Amino acid sequence: MANINLEETLKLITDLVSIPSPSGNTNEVITFVEKFLAELRLKTSRNRKGGLIATIEGKDSSKHRMLTAHVDTLGAMVKEVKSNGRLKIDLIGGFKYNSIEGEYCQIETSSGKKITGTILMHQTSVHVYKDAGKAERNQDNMEVRIDEKVHTAEEVRALGIEVGDFVSFDPRVEVTPGGYIKSRHLDDKASVAILLQLIKQIQTENIHLPYTTHFLISNNEEIGYGGNSNITPETVEYLAVDMGAMGDGQSTDEYTVSICVKDASGPYHYQLRKNLVRLALENKIDYKLDIYPFYGSDASAAIRSGHDIVHGLIGPGIDSSHAFERTHQSSIENTARLLNKYVQSELVL
Ligand SMILES: [Zn+2]
Repeated sequence: MANINLEETLKLITDLVSIPSPSGNTNEVITFVEKFLAELRLKTSRNRKGGLIATIEGKDSSKHRMLTAHVDTLGAMVKEVKSNGRLKIDLIGGFKYNSIEGEYCQIETSSGKKITGTILMHQTSVHVYKDAGKAERNQDNMEVRIDEKVHTAEEVRALGIEVGDFVSFDPRVEVTPGGYIKSRHLDDKASVAILLQLIKQIQTENIHLPYTTHFLISNNEEIGYGGNSNITPETVEYLAVDMGAMGDGQSTDEYTVSICVKDASGPYHYQLRKNLVRLALENKIDYKLDIYPFYGSDASAAIRSGHDIVHGLIGPGIDSSHAFERTHQSSIENTARLLNKYVQSELVL
């Protein structure tokens, strides 16, 4: 397989992060992925929960392999229309209020109307509030300021906004001249872009995979149960492609592919991990082994839901995850190169 087209992958990441898709409202982004795969003459199907599955027949169809990445992201939902014309929100996924303070957002009403706003502390103006800096960043103090002339709950409701409307955060995506990608939702849209580019290569270069391989674009990972279904009984290996977690004491960085050896769910399959390391070494792919302390993946969710599979987790290193995320194109490239070799390798069992 030829090297990956980095430029196309970065463009795809930019396109994906720009489509709002908080867990629970992923139809638009799944439709985008569906079209991308249809153009590659690949048949796909949706599962009932709204994820997408694409299958490529391999030389051996008695044993299968599955790869997954998730398109759902963090987000919020309107919890209450406040009497001051602002919105109280409830968070979707695991993150803290301070990571969305000051963020531009979009409210999608149930009729599909989109209205913009900003997520702010109620006590933001230092000219008015003495405790602006100290007040706790929480559900009671933070609210959405809607970009419309509204001062009462009635006026907000007249716009069509109601409890249960989805709120998505502006990704503010930027690719810097030095090759950094700064954006929200790199978790896990960077990996989705890598998988889509991999599928494109397999299709356009007519690569015959050793085993029938399924690609599951999952849509409920951030809430714990994205890729834990639609796994065929023939599936031996299941690899989640999801962000590597960075921070103090972590070996993961923005330049290599992170191979997860253990997360909060326990160790990943030992032999599969060893195979991934061997593939990286043989092909001079820069990698890091790491343990993610507060993390679970679609692969561990699949094991938990009772699937007898060999499970693994790899992905690009993402700095300040679930907040102001950033990675570098070298991490994207190393992840893509390892996946290229992986889909053409022998299974563990
Ligand atoms: Zn993720």
